[in-house]
Amino acid sequence: MPLSTDVNLPRNHQARFPSSCIQCNNDANGNTLRLRPHLTLSLINSESRFSVEIPACQRCSLQIRFRRTCLVLISIVVVFGVMFLVWPHLKNFVPDHLHKWTIIGLVLTCLLPFILFSVFFPPVIDLEVDTLTHSVDYQFRKSEYAASFAKLNDDADWVKIE
Ligand SMILES: [Zn+2]
Repeated sequence: MPLSTDVNLPRNHQARFPSSCIQCNNDANGNTLRLRPHLTLSLINSESRFSVEIPACQRCSLQIRFRRTCLVLISIVVVFGVMFLVWPHLKNFVPDHLHKWTIIGLVLTCLLPFILFSVFFPPVIDLEVDTLTHSVDYQFRKSEYAASFAKLNDDADWVKIE
């Protein structure tokens, strides 16, 4: 059973969302939340810069932003913790040519609980820009919402549901 339902649309397609709040399904009262793919990807690759306005009531907007901010802060703390607290104690025991891979392995190991949390408790929506296929994956926690979203955008050049 998939943990999120992905709808893939062309990047240049102006995506339309159901007008109710994406999280609680109540009336969004015209409130929207601007969402971007994860910050790290946008920093590495300017082509992955992208954003959409998603209907969300004020309370849910705050919750969605809070969760995203927490995960970014945790990632930053883990990277700095590994680099400045753990790595100095291990550096002399690791051959020079393995330094980079050891640091990457340590960071990923420390982030593993949070990565697993995101996989098993996916956010209500996430975005992933594919710069090779010029497409955007809209990843939804709720499959019914994903189906409504796909139907609303069936005029796009393609709509792939995974
Ligand atoms: Zn809501």
